[in-house]
Amino acid sequence: MFPYELKVVALPLITNFRGLNVREIALFEGPAGWSEFSPFIEYGSKESATWLKAALESATIQPPEKIRESIEINATLPNVKVAEVKNLLSKFPGCKIIKVKINDFKKDQELLAEVLNHIPDAKFRLDVNGQWGLDQAIENLKNYEETFNGKIDYVEQPCLELAELLQLRKKTQIKIAIDESIRKNSNQDYALLKEVADIAVIKWAPSGGITQALELIEKVDLPVVISSALESSIGISHGLSLAQSIPNLYGACGLGTGALFKSDITTMPLSISNGVIINRKVIPDLIDKFMVEPDRHTWWHNRINQIYQEGLM
Ligand SMILES: [Mg+2]
Repeated sequence: MFPYELKVVALPLITNFRGLNVREIALFEGPAGWSEFSPFIEYGSKESATWLKAALESATIQPPEKIRESIEINATLPNVKVAEVKNLLSKFPGCKIIKVKINDFKKDQELLAEVLNHIPDAKFRLDVNGQWGLDQAIENLKNYEETFNGKIDYVEQPCLELAELLQLRKKTQIKIAIDESIRKNSNQDYALLKEVADIAVIKWAPSGGITQALELIEKVDLPVVISSALESSIGISHGLSLAQSIPNLYGACGLGTGALFKSDITTMPLSISNGVIINRKVIPDLIDKFMVEPDRHTWWHNRINQIYQEGLM
């Protein structure tokens, strides 16, 4: 049996993200403090096991020595309507780097223009989640480059295939970051990753925790952006600990997604101030308020026990 008592909560979101309006999260407290297990509902046992490994590590051992105090944060804009941009940006006070989930140039250029109406010196990170083919990527990036000259920080995972990224890199001046490519790098060809990208996006939970993430970062050997997966302030604090401990941080991190919750599991969330977050231990004092119904608790309980008993970690 899993040795810690689970508290499962459902946190409401301010806007639809990944098709979700609420985010279910399992929390537990170990000897080193509170931790979070929150793989998305549709993830299978094997993938979720990596998240459980991360959760257990942060519940049981203290984070490594930090080499920086505050972490610069990028705003995260889901693929929203132009009318929602102003309100969303207000949730990320002082952030100048804006990550936008995009489909293509035609539909999304208005989103970027609207951001610039409110933050004239904004720079953009375009997250494509691997949705473009090579030709589509070349054409879209050419348009972005022309229209938003000098304002694109990087494009994140424009194509899924490494061979396509390699070709694309020869055709664009825009820097390329990889995210999915790192997790799906089953043949562990780290030299090739370095050839196709300028920046590596690394996440605490999907990497299996801080220790494994640090090992991965050393192998990938690219400047790093630490990002999150819509965690509560508990998971965010572990992502921040990771960002605080790595030498080759590229810049602002995607750890501001707490701003997308209507409410967090604490009255003192890790909030953004002047574009940065200062990390600290988080005490979830609002668990009772957001507790799920018994059937959902049982679902999470079974999920976690199955992974734990099968020793999938
Ligand atoms: Mg991404």
